[in-house]
Amino acid sequence: MAAKFNPWAMAQEQVDAVAKRIKLDPGIHQVLRNPRRTLTVSIPVRMDDGSIKVFEGYRVQHSLARGPAKGGLRFHPDVTLEEVKALAMWMTWKCAVVGIPYGGGKGGVICNPKKMSQGEIERLSRRFFFEISAIIGEDIDIPAPDVNTTPQIMAWMMDTYSMKSGYPAPHVITDKPLEIGGSLGRNKATAQGCFYTIQAAAKKLRMPLKGKKVVVQGYGNAGFFMAEFLKGAGCKIVAVSDSQGGIYKATGIDVAAAKKHKEKTRTVVGLKGTTKISNAEILEINCDILVPAALENVITKDNARKVKAKIIAEAANGPTTPEADKILNAKGAVVIPDILANAGGVTVSYFEWVQGRMGLWWDEKDITERLKKIMDDSFAATWDTAAKEKCDMRTGAYIVAMKRVADVTKLRGIWP
Ligand code: GLU
Repeated sequence: MAAKFNPWAMAQEQVDAVAKRIKLDPGIHQVLRNPRRTLTVSIPVRMDDGSIKVFEGYRVQHSLARGPAKGGLRFHPDVTLEEVKALAMWMTWKCAVVGIPYGGGKGGVICNPKKMSQGEIERLSRRFFFEISAIIGEDIDIPAPDVNTTPQIMAWMMDTYSMKSGYPAPHVITDKPLEIGGSLGRNKATAQGCFYTIQAAAKKLRMPLKGKKVVVQGYGNAGFFMAEFLKGAGCKIVAVSDSQGGIYKATGIDVAAAKKHKEKTRTVVGLKGTTKISNAEILEINCDILVPAALENVITKDNARKVKAKIIAEAANGPTTPEADKILNAKGAVVIPDILANAGGVTVSYFEWVQGRMGLWWDEKDITERLKKIMDDSFAATWDTAAKEKCDMRTGAYIVAMKRVADVTKLRGIWP
C-alpha cells in the first residue's frame, strides 16, 4: 500500500532541498523548517437538533519574521494539523515571493460544511474564531477564506472579534464583504493573479493563448474565475471538475452555465451537452494548460507521466508532490508553483488590509494595476532565478522566498 500522503513532510522536504542548494546557515534552516506557533482548539457547537457536537480546529503561525502571519481558514473533513502546518509554511513563502509584508499562517476545522445548515456553520465559525482569537489580531495574524469558507463567514468572524473587543475591528480579517470593508477585486484575485502568471509563462514559451485547450480541476472560487479569465483570453475550456467528478466537451464548456449548474445541484456533473469523466481522467486529458484548483496531492508519481499539459498553473496549494514535480520537469512541462501562481489572493488581501487601515478605498483599476505589477515582477524574479540557478520554477520561487525570510531572520537576530 502506498504511504499515506503527509503534506507537512512534503513542505519540509521542499525547504530542506532548497536550504541545501543555497547553503543556508544550519541554524536559520532549523528556524525556517518549523512553525512558530500551533494552536489546537475544541469547538462546541449547538446543532439544529439541539445536540452539542465538538469539532477540532487549528491555527498555525509558521512565521512572523516579515510581518503579521497571514493566511486562510479552511473547513473540510480531511483537515489535519499536519496539513495546516504545511499550508501555513507555504503562506510564508507565498508572501515572501510576492514581497508583501507578512509571515505565514493557516487554520482549519475538521467538519463537513456541505452537510451543515447555515446556522450551524455560523455558530461553528463564531466559536472557532473566538477560540483562536488569543493569537489573532490586525498586527499579529490576519485570517482570510480558504477551501469552503466565504466572505459571509469572514463577516461573522469579524463580528465575533469586534464583539469581544468592544469596537469594530474589520482589519483582523480579509476578503470581507464590500459593505464592511472588503476590497474590490478580492473575489477573483487568486484567479486573476494566476492568469497573469500563465500569460507571462505563455509569452516566455512563445505560445499564444488563443485556441489553447484548458482543463480546470476544482470549480470553487478560484477554479471558476480561472476558467472565465482563460476563456476571455481565447482559450477553450475542454474540461472542469469538482469533488463529485468532471465534465468534458471538446468544443469548449460554457463556464457560466457550469457555475449555475453547480449552484443548483452542488456539482458541475450533469451539465447539458457535456460528457461525464472521472476525477482521475480529467488530469490526463489532452490539453495545453492544466489548472489544479482544489486540494493537495492530485498530481503524484502515479499520474504525472500521463499529464499532457505544457503549462501547469497551481491555483491550489500543494497539488503536485515532489516526485511528480521531477517527472513533469523532466518532460519539459512548465509548472508555475503554487506559492507564486496563487499569490494573487493574498496580495489583494494585503490591499484590503492597507486600504482599511488608511480608511481610503481604491477603485478596481488601481487594484488590477497593482496586482498585475506585483505578479509580473514576481514571475520575472522567479523565472530569472530559475534560469540563473538552472532549476525549475518551484525551486526558483523557493530560492527567492527563503532568501528573503532568511535575510530578515538574520537581520532581526534570535531573541533574546
Ligand atoms: N487562502 C488563500 C491562500 O491560500 C488566501 C489567504 C489570504 O488572503 O490571507 O493564499
